[in-house]
Amino acid sequence: MKTFEYTRPRTVAEAVRLLNEHGPDAQLLAGGTDLVIELRNGWKEPEVVIDLKRIDELRPSITEDGGFIKISASTVMTDIAEDQRIQKYFPALVESAVVVGSVQIRARATLAGNICNGSPAADTAPPMLVYDAVVAIAGPNGMRRMQVDDFIVGPGKVALERGELVTAIELPIPQRPMGAAYTRLTRRRGTDLASITLCCGVDADGITRLAYGSVGPRAVLLVEMSGVLADPNASHETKADILNEMFLGASPSLRSMRASPDYRRAMLRVLGARALQTAIERLPRETAA
Ligand SMILES: Cc1cc2nc3c(=O)[nH]c(=O)nc-3n(C[C@H](O)[C@H](O)[C@H](O)COP(=O)(O)OP(=O)(O)OC[C@H]3O[C@@H](n4cnc5c(N)ncnc54)[C@H](O)[C@@H]3O)c2cc1C
Repeated sequence: MKTFEYTRPRTVAEAVRLLNEHGPDAQLLAGGTDLVIELRNGWKEPEVVIDLKRIDELRPSITEDGGFIKISASTVMTDIAEDQRIQKYFPALVESAVVVGSVQIRARATLAGNICNGSPAADTAPPMLVYDAVVAIAGPNGMRRMQVDDFIVGPGKVALERGELVTAIELPIPQRPMGAAYTRLTRRRGTDLASITLCCGVDADGITRLAYGSVGPRAVLLVEMSGVLADPNASHETKADILNEMFLGASPSLRSMRASPDYRRAMLRVLGARALQTAIERLPRETAA
């Protein structure tokens, strides 16, 4: 491993200053579950590593404010999975957080790090897309916010400019009843990155939001407004046709050691139909008086 300078700023402003000063020669360290491996393997060779864990403004916290649940940048998967508000409003995010790595990994891995790492296989990306999550970003010009859908760019790439870091992920509390489900395909049980990640959300207005990853350079979100997918009485064949259309954009890697493109495409359809059905079953329905 190449030697680097290690810094531990106390404020976001100081971290931004350091990031801006060093540009691409700096790397942020949150839980380190991705970064430390990249450093050890020599895939990243920064001159400076900026540890975010002593920054008070980023300390682990999940708060409700102005119709949003705000998850600070240092909050780890374990805390997300155990939070009752996240369980209530964003159960599919919980389902994704509890399958990340192992107990030990989940106790270190942050939600912000999962998305900032830019992995096409990041488990939390599809639920964040379905739930319309927003990334709060601090930088030399102050704060800005953007949808996770715009933030994810491609493998290892997110829409952060020089000097910027993520301070929080903000999830709008759904205004209408919603049913959602997360599922994934792995080669084996236990610690393994997913060959497919998929989340489906259905709301009371019949809108279906479906996001999938690990079958292309980035996780993608598709929205179906006709109401057919969400209709519990629509035929499986009709739904399968719509889902197949939605999966046309999948472009699984030819070189992956995890699964062949044909297998991933076939399983995408299976997982899509299952997650849709589960989401429909979970949608709270008004009962007649
Ligand atoms: C054994 C093992 C198993 C794993 N299994 C899974 C799995 O099943 N599913 C899955 O999705 N992932 C898995 N991972 C990957 C990893 O745990 C996640 O991506 C994790 O969420 C990253 O968060 P972190 O806090 O550890 O990030 P770090 O490693 O600290 O950082 C990751 C990247 O994000 C950047 N970054 C971190 N925080 C910020 C911020 N606030 N602002 C801007 N940039 C930031 C860093 O500079 C770095 O480039 C696994 C990793 C290991 C080692």
